[in-house]
Amino acid sequence: MDYYEVLGVTKSASQDEIKKAFHKLAHKYHPDKGGDEKKFKEINEAYQVLSDAQKRQQYDQFGSGFENMNQGGGAGDFTWAWQNQNANVDFEDLGDVFENFFSFGGGGGRATRKKDIKKGKDIQVDMEIKLEETLQATPKTIALEKLITCHRCSGNGAEPGTKINECFSCRGQGQVQQVKRTILGSYTTFAVCPECKGDGTKPEKPCNVCRGEGRAKGREDMQINIPAGIDAGQVIKVEGKGEAGKKGGRAGDLYVRIFVKKHDIFARKEDDLYISEYIGYSQAVLGDEIEIPTLEGKNIVLTVPPGTESGRMLRISGKGIPHFDEYGRGNLYVELQINTPKKVSKRQKQILDELRKEGL
Ligand SMILES: [Zn+2]
Ligand SMILES: [Zn+2]
Repeated sequence: MDYYEVLGVTKSASQDEIKKAFHKLAHKYHPDKGGDEKKFKEINEAYQVLSDAQKRQQYDQFGSGFENMNQGGGAGDFTWAWQNQNANVDFEDLGDVFENFFSFGGGGGRATRKKDIKKGKDIQVDMEIKLEETLQATPKTIALEKLITCHRCSGNGAEPGTKINECFSCRGQGQVQQVKRTILGSYTTFAVCPECKGDGTKPEKPCNVCRGEGRAKGREDMQINIPAGIDAGQVIKVEGKGEAGKKGGRAGDLYVRIFVKKHDIFARKEDDLYISEYIGYSQAVLGDEIEIPTLEGKNIVLTVPPGTESGRMLRISGKGIPHFDEYGRGNLYVELQINTPKKVSKRQKQILDELRKEGL
């Protein structure tokens, strides 16, 4: 759904134009006047966003991702700052876009998605690994400075030994209902309770360390396992290792974006490795057995067939990078280059002269 289209205005429409368009359409489609309820909801939704400068900017920026979020979250086509990430992104963290959710028609309002306002923020970190470290699963330690669960109150925000009471303002609901009467009829909005910030509870005495937040700045060392075969740009999601939630709320997730350091000898293309090896002219003509390095570090013997031309590519099966999501490994490709010496000894020159006489 394109909010501009819904309201029938252009992307550059002024606030005044948006307001006018909304009033006209809301009047036309209002369910109390026999209008199309679905359409009316769309119009309202579009107006909620476009009439708010901040939300409008967010919508312009995130486009359809914003739209997906509005339809209940889930991985859509919102892209992170990086590409090719395998993680499942959810949109709950994408800002307070729908802090107030919308319902209409009086009693028994429609169920709307309630944002998890206590959830901690997601954290993104970058990690560089060596190419060798993609050969097998590799444990890595990450030290993070972040909001962690408060040690004093264990996250509930109350000073130890004191009571936690039900919020008097919302009677434990965490949200307050407001009925707005307009020329178009009345509708109900639900807003997060300002007294308890959505908890439904209030500690008798807030915790001395976190002042009732349930979390405080701290450091956490954690170990994550980098799976074998991982490639640059892939992202590992570690659930629950982002920032601690407010007052015992769900923690955010940690996203680790992988970089792979360039190797001196091996180049990687998907799960295959490539190296260049120089051989002498006589080795190319007569064939030979040469030693080839592998990423594991152990040399292996490669047979150079007689009559090898410069640039010939030989394949060594199963000596590449392990496949990320299936068994087996990629291959190692060896490109053979014939080495043409810049300088030769007296004896070599004599032999080469002989070869020339033989037509080689
Ligand atoms: Zn505390
Ligand atoms: Zn409350």
